[in-house]
Order: sequence, then structure tokens, then C-alpha cells
Amino acid sequence: MTDSETVVAQVDARTAELAGNLDVLLGRIDAACRAVGREPGSVRLLPVTKFFPAADVAILYGLGCREFGESREQEATAKVAELGERPDIRWHMIGRLQRNKARVVARWAHTVHSVDSERLATALDKGALAALEAGERIEPLRVLLQVSLDEDPERGGATTNDLDRLADQVAAAKGLQLGGLMAIPPLDAEPHSAFARLATLHTRLLAGHPSATELSAGMSGDLESAIEHGSTVVRVGTALMGARPITSG
Ligand SMILES: *Cc1c(COP(=O)(O)O)cnc(C)c1O
Repeated sequence: MTDSETVVAQVDARTAELAGNLDVLLGRIDAACRAVGREPGSVRLLPVTKFFPAADVAILYGLGCREFGESREQEATAKVAELGERPDIRWHMIGRLQRNKARVVARWAHTVHSVDSERLATALDKGALAALEAGERIEPLRVLLQVSLDEDPERGGATTNDLDRLADQVAAAKGLQLGGLMAIPPLDAEPHSAFARLATLHTRLLAGHPSATELSAGMSGDLESAIEHGSTVVRVGTALMGARPITSG
């Protein structure tokens, strides 16, 4: 084979692999919805493409995916630029975010899932307003509040006590739109009880903020449990993309 034939064969093989994984995953989501009497289609798949190249995002786009989750600002910003000719992609920032990256992320993110402090919310609001002003975005930045389910602030996420205040702050911010909640269950916890707690917090949030309907919960290993407890979007990396390369990040 020539070099270009080899590349084509590699792209075809990766396309077949991703298409197969996507099929299995959509089947899992569908089955999880049916098992608890939820409308299939009430849960979206957010492919998490961190550590994987823009070429994989392009393949998934070809397979119909339009939303992608990234967790590292630099990597994401580069990927967004590479895929710039596909303006209907919605990019989600799902990882921990430093305040000094808020302005950059506000240029490309449709939604940030990991807002857990007043200071970060303030920085994102400023960044989003500047991006709106500069014509870099046309809508406010959608924000999900990340809640800590073990109340350990080291691992990210707002504590239950801080949640109401943070929700009111985001709801009042002109550059932001309060979309809902996100959580990652504690490593050592049983996911059912963690997701049940999250569902209770979401119900409480909805009482004061009825449009904050998004619940970002569930990953490769626990999406069935998250769907049972009301998840509206599952963030899936490994089960779709394969194992991530070992890195320190
Ligand atoms: C990497 C990541 C995921 C995906 O996890 P998998 O177990 O690979 O599906 C989900 N959420 C966040 C915040 C992540 O960083």
C-alpha cells in the first residue's frame, strides 16, 4: 500500500471502531432509560474526547455527534481551532478550570460543567461578557454547578451549603445562564447513594430555578445508575474512545 492508502485504511478502521462503540453506548443509554420508565431520548450522550486527536472528533461528527466534552483548556482550545469549519459543534468544558483561563474558555465553550466557586463564576461572567461584546459568541455561557458529593473541597465541587448562593449568583449574571448541576461520584462511594443525593439537590435547585433542568451525571462505568437518578446527559470517554493514553494530567 502507498502511504496515503495506509492512512485511509487507518481512518476506516477507527471509523468502524468508533461507530461500533457508539452503537453499543446508545443501546446502553436506551436500555437504561427503558429499565426505569424514562423516555428514550431524554438522556443525551456527551462524548468526552480528551487525550484523543481532533481527527477522532471529526469521525464522530461524521457519525452524527454534535456535542463534545473536553477537560483541559489548552488541549481543547487547540482542538476547537482545528475543527473550526464545523460551527454547529457544541463544546463542553467538563474539567477543573482556573480563573485565568475563563476568558479563553468563554470564547469557545457552549457549556461549562465545572463551576464550583463564586470567584470562578465571576471570572466566567466577565469572560462571557467580553466574548459577547467582541462578537466571539452570540449567547450567554451556559453553566452547570459542580457539586461535591463527599463535601471534600479538594476534589472539586461546591459544598451543599454554598450551592444556593452560587446558583443565585449565576442566575443573576448577565453573561451566564444557569443550566443545572454536575457531579462526579466520590471514588470510593457506591454510585447509587451518591446519585440519589445529587437528585435531591437537583430537585431543590429546580424549586428556585425551574429552567436549570440539566443534570450532568454518569460516565462509562456508572451511567445506568445515573440515568436511574435523573441524569439528562452522560459524559462518556473510555467506553466510546477506548483507553486513554497514560499521562500525568
Ligand atoms: C474524563 C472524564 C469523564 C469520562 O470518564 P470515562 O470514565 O472515561 O467515561 C467524565 N467526566 C469528567 C469530568 C471527566 O474528566
